[in-house]
Amino acid sequence: MKKYDFKKLEARWQKIWEKEGVYQPNLKAPSASRRKPFYNLMMFPYPSAEGLHVGNMYAFTGSDVYGRLKRMQGNDVFEPIGLDGFGIHSENYALKIGTHPMRQAAISEKRFYKQLQKIGNGFAWRNRLETYDPDYYRWTQWVFIQLWKKGLAYRKKQTVNWCPSCKTVLADEQVEGGKCERCSSEVEQRDLEQWFFRITKYSDHLLKNLDKMDWSEKIKIAQRNWIGKSEGASIKFSVSNSQFSIKEVEVFTTRPDTLFGVTFLVISPELAKSWMKLGWSAGEKVKKYVEKTLLTRVKEQEVGQKEKTGEFSELYAINPVNAEKIPVWISDYVLAGYGTGAIMAVPAHDERDFEFAKKYNLPIKVVVIPNDQEFFVQSGGVNKNYNFSELKGHSNFDSIISGFSESVIKQGPIDVSGILINSGKFSGLDSERAKWEITKLVGGERKSQFRLRDWLISRQRYWGAPIPMVHCEACAKAGKGEQKECPGWYAVKESDLPVKLPKVKNFRPTGTGESPLALDKKFYETKCPHCKGKARRETDVSDTFLDSAWYYLRYPSVQEKKVAWNKDLLKKWFPVDMYIGGAEHSVLHLLYVRFIAMALKDMKLTNFEEPFKTFRAHGLLIKDGAKMSKSKGNVVNPDEYIERFGADSLRTYLMFLAPFEQGGDFRDQSMLGVVRFLERVWKFFDRDFSGRPVKNPELSRLVHQSIKKITEDLEGLRYNTAISSLMIMLNGFEAQASSVGRTEMEIFLKLLAPFAPHLTEELWHSLGNKKSIHLSLWPKAEAKFLKVEEVDLVIQVMGKFRGTIRVPAGALQGFVERAVGDLPKFKEWLNGQKIRKVIFVPGKVINFVLE
Ligand SMILES: [Zn+2]
Ligand SMILES: [Zn+2]
Repeated sequence: MKKYDFKKLEARWQKIWEKEGVYQPNLKAPSASRRKPFYNLMMFPYPSAEGLHVGNMYAFTGSDVYGRLKRMQGNDVFEPIGLDGFGIHSENYALKIGTHPMRQAAISEKRFYKQLQKIGNGFAWRNRLETYDPDYYRWTQWVFIQLWKKGLAYRKKQTVNWCPSCKTVLADEQVEGGKCERCSSEVEQRDLEQWFFRITKYSDHLLKNLDKMDWSEKIKIAQRNWIGKSEGASIKFSVSNSQFSIKEVEVFTTRPDTLFGVTFLVISPELAKSWMKLGWSAGEKVKKYVEKTLLTRVKEQEVGQKEKTGEFSELYAINPVNAEKIPVWISDYVLAGYGTGAIMAVPAHDERDFEFAKKYNLPIKVVVIPNDQEFFVQSGGVNKNYNFSELKGHSNFDSIISGFSESVIKQGPIDVSGILINSGKFSGLDSERAKWEITKLVGGERKSQFRLRDWLISRQRYWGAPIPMVHCEACAKAGKGEQKECPGWYAVKESDLPVKLPKVKNFRPTGTGESPLALDKKFYETKCPHCKGKARRETDVSDTFLDSAWYYLRYPSVQEKKVAWNKDLLKKWFPVDMYIGGAEHSVLHLLYVRFIAMALKDMKLTNFEEPFKTFRAHGLLIKDGAKMSKSKGNVVNPDEYIERFGADSLRTYLMFLAPFEQGGDFRDQSMLGVVRFLERVWKFFDRDFSGRPVKNPELSRLVHQSIKKITEDLEGLRYNTAISSLMIMLNGFEAQASSVGRTEMEIFLKLLAPFAPHLTEELWHSLGNKKSIHLSLWPKAEAKFLKVEEVDLVIQVMGKFRGTIRVPAGALQGFVERAVGDLPKFKEWLNGQKIRKVIFVPGKVINFVLE
């Protein structure tokens, strides 16, 4: 028998597969092949010269196993790979090691592709793409222009997130707990003019589709929360003593039923500032407060933690429901970005309003009583608990209610629905019903509000696709331009794309709020497409998440020179059938990509609005119980393991750790078990399969039950239990080798093929097969072998009766041993002693002999 020389064998098959195009589907439409197209996509990696991380390999193998199953089930599987190489991550790495990002990209690309070759995935190599390739980003720029034309891209001055270390603005989605998603620096707020995509136009649509999508639940929950829809009403308060153009304030509230409890209004410092620009001559104290607060603006995450500050504006508003005059305050606990920048304060029923009212001594008015509230009343020497309706007729009703109000004012707000009190003709009404009646009465509008804000798309960095826009000062002054709200701005002519990223020496971020491209005169000097006068190119680049928001559309069309994607292929290959990737992208990539797909569909550039039929998030891989990190020195380098044990062993081990969606704990010791398993498979082939095997119904049952179980496990991404079943199958084969013929062997190899593609290919050919095992058909379980009869088997330890266990009739020794070993009492029976041997009488008894 030959040695299992995995190194030689893996390299050889990788070469043959590529040469024969085993994993290259027939992309053309209509399909000449009878096989059904299946688009199996994995999130493409962002490369760094450190190379492929074992976490990447974990994700890619899990996705590849699924693709291989689908291929063997008769589909024409398209499994592309590429590099998400533009963006801050790659650029920061180049900066760190002191090379030019362009040069670094070439180095990383080579290294990554070499590693990706070695892991043995069924990639369609001819369709790879890199986002920094001008042939690719030409179309990223084209996508930008389509959005611009449709009014979905705009430029606006706004308070935005600024990372002082990355020296660029960031989208809200890229700020986690007040910190930069890339470098963990504290994010600051700056007022800057930036490019945005109008993702908020799709808020409702993005939310609604989630209900019918086959996506991992945790991603759907994260997206729902991020989009953050709340139902309520918009209500206008007139300003009674305004000496300038603002005569009313609009607020959004989810609790219009508490309108009678409004005792003051609060506006954000930003709104106050904008009023001043409109002619509001506020007092000195107010001006000072606004200036100071804007400088030290608390972030969204800090509101609620930090002590609230405020200042009375000296303006008064009129509560539309009862014409009461209420003061207008300014405070930093109202955020500028949400809603109107103004709120109605109901301190009796809102925690933040309550704290503010207490601090500044503002009135608190209780207007809702919880449904289950009980009132303890002493009357005529009798003590009794009443609920609200029983209380109504009580002679002391008013004083009891005011007692309740006092307790709220003392103890804190109650933020629940219930029954209205102190609310004029609405008193006694259920608060849910009262919401819309009160809204109607005051002429308010029923409305939804979303937490989601527009996607900030420009970056003041070098390593990205230049935003393909031109600004003309003269046209701006004349009020000309392609979009009314962005005077002077024109898109670059589509035939002039790509706007190539120049190779500049000075690529470091400047920190001035401008990209390094603003230092390159040759780059930014251009002609106005409209008046042909002197104009200036946009020097910001686009967010790297724009590159990845449409890449799946390009894969089948990478060869196309004249279009971003071949429309004939849309019907055949889209939407993507299965998408697998990390959950950390739930409100970044996975939200952006859905938005872009919807926008493209609306522009009739594609024929689907959801890009991925199914999405599954894989779990996180850890090492010896701890998160992998360079500082801990516990990062697994996949190259090392492939070198020592082969790609097949590493793949199989990674998938054996735990259910794929859960992640796993990598331990060198347990890897050896898997290595031994594959060696045993190899060794088992050292026999002649040409003869006729001894008939054995037990073995047939094992084979067919395994087919069923493994198929179901693979479909459900429970790869670990599928591998366990393969191990049990091999035990059975070894125990009854004379009954194992070529048929059984081929079935076993097919079931193992998704995990160990090289080893199985080699053994498959050693059986005389000429075509690749990966193009063979997945075995089908025969129903007649699936019926399970069960028997009760006696368990003995040292010949002594310990109990019985129900197992399938014909269960093999290995299976029964494992089943007994799993019993909670088993350890107790062994009493710390080791097992010397096991005596097994099939269908009858299992006896453990101890040392
Ligand atoms: Zn940063
Ligand atoms: Zn012009």
